[in-house]
Amino acid sequence: MQNLRVLELFSGIGGMHYALKESGIPIQVVAAIDINTTANEIYRHNFPDTPLWNKTIEGITLSDFNKLSFDMILMSPPCQPFTRIGLQRDIADPRTKSFLHILDLLPRLSRLPRFILLENVKGFENSSAREHLVKTLMECGYTIQEFMVSPTSVGIPNSRLRYYLIAKIATEKISDAFSHPAESDSFEEPSVLSPQEPGTCLPEEEMHAGEVLYKLETTMDAQRKINQNNDLSVRQIQDFLEPQMEVNMEHSLLPPKTLLRYALILDIVRPTCRRSVCFTKGYGRYVEGTGSVLQCCMETEVDSVFRGLDQYSEEEKLQRLLKLKLRYFTPREVANLMGFPKSFSFPEHIPTKHQYKVLGNSLNVVVVAKLIQQLVS
Ligand code: SAH
Repeated sequence: MQNLRVLELFSGIGGMHYALKESGIPIQVVAAIDINTTANEIYRHNFPDTPLWNKTIEGITLSDFNKLSFDMILMSPPCQPFTRIGLQRDIADPRTKSFLHILDLLPRLSRLPRFILLENVKGFENSSAREHLVKTLMECGYTIQEFMVSPTSVGIPNSRLRYYLIAKIATEKISDAFSHPAESDSFEEPSVLSPQEPGTCLPEEEMHAGEVLYKLETTMDAQRKINQNNDLSVRQIQDFLEPQMEVNMEHSLLPPKTLLRYALILDIVRPTCRRSVCFTKGYGRYVEGTGSVLQCCMETEVDSVFRGLDQYSEEEKLQRLLKLKLRYFTPREVANLMGFPKSFSFPEHIPTKHQYKVLGNSLNVVVVAKLIQQLVS
């Protein structure tokens, strides 16, 4: 097969580019486009030979796009207009402008790309932006499929429920692999309409239905975690960790202030667990809902530390919490959980908090690779 010419929009640190590589399909990224200079620096560091345009997408003309002559568009438009935690201004949000620009240009391209893949947050499925996208694709003659997928369905112990749309020009039929559970039991069928997966970046009130046990956790939360940890189709967290000696413990341990202030809302996992919550761009800076932390001392049980914790003085509380040796996952470990290959790296001077930030905006490479395979097969 001749190399597919791919246009990577909102390219960030290149999650889509890695997914293309992982899919094994012969490709050439003819242009990657993003306005974030830190993300672009990281992209360039890893893909020095790919043309990277540091430009706003709404400033790119029809003729610029025509010159690229691409067969595939991969894109992750900004998700803030659709997150349930945000204002959900949808197409009224100025950040949707670039996406609408692409939809405006698409029907007017001198040659329609054969394949399109879009990734976005949960919430996009109910947006006007999605309606507009589907309508445009239909009018252009594409066949589409939509999915809600989390990496746990490909055996990765991390929740990151995302919306995906794949579109093929109608002369090409989309393979049905994911529509038949027997052929692909790892992918849940679409579905935009399927019940939402618990444990994924949900607002707090939705996480805490039921009777509170300890650590603000309900029986339901506890049972869900037990079920997740018993799901042998998902690998253990330890497969994604760096060798202990390579982890700078001094930098990674949660500081006393954070422990005392946020202990009750931490999502704590052990290396043997088969779950972790979604890592977001605020990981390492904010605690609430930004990602799991790792328990490094296995001799202490979480229950024994947390039961009756509020009866102790601050000093005693801290002593008890310190026993767990809780640390943040390193950026490398977050990248591992997001399916980035060993070859991916950060330029040395990029601060850790920026590394978390760009990773939090990125995507799960293994999930997208499977979707690309399905799209092109
Ligand atoms: N898939 C990417 C991340 C997508 S996040 C990855 O793997 O890293 C959305 C990206 O869109 C961000 O990197 C942001 O800088 C970029 N972006 C937002 N608005 C843009 C615009 N108007 N033009 C170009 N890039 C934009």
